[in-house]
Parts: sequence; C-alpha cells; structure tokens
Amino acid sequence: MGKRIYVDFDDCLCETARSFSDIAKRLFGKDVPYEKIRFFNLQESFELSDDDYEKLMLEGHKPEVLVSYDETPGASRVLNEWIDSGHEVFVITGRPYIAFEASRRWLDEHGLSRVKLFFLNKYGRDFFYKNSEFNLELEDYYKMKFDYAIEDSPMAFRFFGHLPELRVMVYDRPWNHECELPGDNYFRCTDWDLIQKKVK
Ligand SMILES: [Mg+2]
Repeated sequence: MGKRIYVDFDDCLCETARSFSDIAKRLFGKDVPYEKIRFFNLQESFELSDDDYEKLMLEGHKPEVLVSYDETPGASRVLNEWIDSGHEVFVITGRPYIAFEASRRWLDEHGLSRVKLFFLNKYGRDFFYKNSEFNLELEDYYKMKFDYAIEDSPMAFRFFGHLPELRVMVYDRPWNHECELPGDNYFRCTDWDLIQKKVK
C-alpha cells in the first residue's frame, strides 16, 4: 500500500545551509563553513546582530538565490522512485509563502513537478516573517497523516508528536549532532540512499 511521506525542503532536498555560509561570508566576512554550523539558529551559528541576521535571511530568500540552491545528492531520484511505486510525497517547508514561486520552480527544475508543496509556520520567525503568510494552517496540518518523515531540524520534531507510528528520518547535519533523538522511531540518516532503504 502507498505510504504518505513528509519531506522537509531546506537541508533535506537542497543544501541551504551551505549557501547561507557563503552568503554570511560575502555580506559580513564571517567564516563559518558548513561543518561548523552548530546551531539550527543561524544567528547563533554565525554570531550576527539582529540587523545582520535579518539581512542574511532576506538575501537567502531572494528568488534568484532560492532557485540556485544545490540539490542534496539523490533527493529527486528517491522521491521520484517513491512516487512511481505509489507513495505520496508532501514537501512541507517552514519557508514563508512569499517563497512559493521560487520554491515551486526549484522543485520543477529538479524533476519534482509531481510533489505537493505546503508552507507551515514551523519556526515562528516573526521578526523576518512579520507579514508573511503560510498556506497550511496548523489545525489542517494536524489532520494530515504520515507514515514517514524526513526532517533535519530538531525544532520541527514537535510537529510529529501526534503521530506515534511515524518513522522519522533525521537528515544528519552538523546542527543536529548534539540533539538527542526523541524516540526509537527516529533514525539518523547520512544520505538519501540510507533513507530509501529505511522506507519500505
Ligand atoms: Mg530543514
């Protein structure tokens, strides 16, 4: 039977943090390579003032920057093989809805025109997302059922608590190394080949 699979966008499908590392270097001369990004909160990881953090986020969410993110190796191949075998893939991102067009374009340009894309306010980054909208309301999200989830951010694990059967593939990233996984239904995965093996 087809499974329903939640897939996060940034740092699961594409190499967002690597781009932010480049941007922080270009804008502020901060030299924090990907491997040294210890916190999901990039303001902490790059040691930025509130103003500079806002500049960083605005730069990283420009359409031309969003569409340029590199694909995480194997992501689109695995998603397409899942869809071909009857699974349903829901990309659920914490990006603001203003990023819809560029996000959709990135998916389409990477052979992922068949995946559904939803915007959920995962992180409440209100200073930057002040007037932004999300097209998936929390109450509607909680009505959705998933069998598997692929996520890199420990801050998003709270969105899985209502699904005790869910198997969560934690995409291994420097900022989740220190996080204790919340349950034995969580599995740390270093790449898409391993994720594919674990999703049956
Ligand atoms: Mg992510």
